[in-house]
Amino acid sequence: MAFEITAKDLAGRVGKLYTKSGVIETPTLFPVVDPRKQEIPLSIIKQYFGQVITNSFFVYRLTGGRVVDVKKLLGWDGIIMTDSGAYQILRYGTIDVDPDEILVYQDKIGTDIGVILDLPFDYEEPYDSALLKVEETIRRAKRAATTLLDRLSMLVVGPIQGGVYFDLLARSAREISRLGFPILAIGSPTTLLEEYRFDVLLEAVLHVKANITREAPLHLFGAGHPLILPFAVALGVDLFDSASYILYARDNRIMLRDRTLRLDDVRTEHLPCSTKLCYKTVKELREMTQEERTLLIAEHNLAVLREEILEIRQRIHEGTLWEYLEIKARAHPTLYRFLKSLGRYKRLIEEYDPETHPQPHGLILFSDTASSRPEPFRHRMRLANTHPTSKIAIVLNIAEKPYNRSWEYLYVKKVAGDRAHVLFYDPVFGIVSEEVAEVYPLSQNEAEGEDEAARAHAYEWLSQYDLILAYNIDLPILGKKVVKLQSLEEVSLYI
Ligand SMILES: [Zn+2]
Repeated sequence: MAFEITAKDLAGRVGKLYTKSGVIETPTLFPVVDPRKQEIPLSIIKQYFGQVITNSFFVYRLTGGRVVDVKKLLGWDGIIMTDSGAYQILRYGTIDVDPDEILVYQDKIGTDIGVILDLPFDYEEPYDSALLKVEETIRRAKRAATTLLDRLSMLVVGPIQGGVYFDLLARSAREISRLGFPILAIGSPTTLLEEYRFDVLLEAVLHVKANITREAPLHLFGAGHPLILPFAVALGVDLFDSASYILYARDNRIMLRDRTLRLDDVRTEHLPCSTKLCYKTVKELREMTQEERTLLIAEHNLAVLREEILEIRQRIHEGTLWEYLEIKARAHPTLYRFLKSLGRYKRLIEEYDPETHPQPHGLILFSDTASSRPEPFRHRMRLANTHPTSKIAIVLNIAEKPYNRSWEYLYVKKVAGDRAHVLFYDPVFGIVSEEVAEVYPLSQNEAEGEDEAARAHAYEWLSQYDLILAYNIDLPILGKKVVKLQSLEEVSLYI
């Protein structure tokens, strides 16, 4: 296998991708470089990223189809990925090269990771022609898989398509995933990103993830903003490529971890950043030539993208990727909406999410998004596989965790022994039974507020008992079965 997973959180993972020129630690990003005119010296890119992507169609055109060493051509000694020119089809309608030829060409020029030539489309494509393009790309992928894959020394990417037609995406994902490509990719979401339609893009990623093999790394084409990266990783994307660092720089747009800042809008003497590039004053930046400025901003943008990637990897190791999404979601309403709506896919995410982490950190839970997280869902599923140990329940709503080390629990246990099933009401997880109170993360969390789903879970679970002694909690829906205790001493009156 070319890909080895070393840590997981949600559907995200940290891994190692083995190429013939070296190992890539994932998640990561391939900065896009242009063989025709590269404004940012590759020696600068090398300080931030060990891999780049370039367009093999441009190399082909530039050399008249001659076989050259693409690394020499670019002056790059790291890992190189090439794409096939599909994006040029999107922009200019057609390119004059045979799909098999451009794939073999990528291998011959020394590419480490190559992409088959798909027929991309943006999300405005009518359904019928989208369907035709998807089918043609699947046909090309099948042909490449059966006749070319074994003969090539590079890793080959199988592109998955469908735009915003989720049925097409699912079908494309299933078919391409079956063909044995060492890397899978989702094609051409750039137009969605340009329009800040993060939620649509992320939902497309989910539909792909639900229909591909777990083992293969997944590449998302054209996504390169620090706001979108952690969300895409959390849904299972491992690789990105983007020209954003330079496109933004040309436009005097400065990437920050949570937003983009226009140089014109900066009101302070220095940028709110401490990369060595930002030692320059804003005045100096404004007064230099556009070329000099582009170089500095592009390098700053690369530094910020690298910082973002490193943060995401650390979060995965810690098991706090969701907490990180909570922070990022506040930066844009579509991201917040998306995070809340993730509940619809919690079954999928729960399947990927590891139950614990090597050095588990306590969870930080917020009541408005808690029910979208895998942990409360997992807890309720597990509890559903257990049974009441008595027909009498004692429900304690207390703050101390672990709940079963509280004085309230110890006292009740002494009085009731095994004659009652002692339960705790947790405002996020719902009912926690005494047997599982110390299971991760039921006592390793800090929570804010109360989730409606926790209430609903309490009513559902408690309806199984004949008598419920409730301490510090009102349960009106359960009616006469409930006795509200004024003090714990009253327990002895009922048991
Ligand atoms: Zn900076």
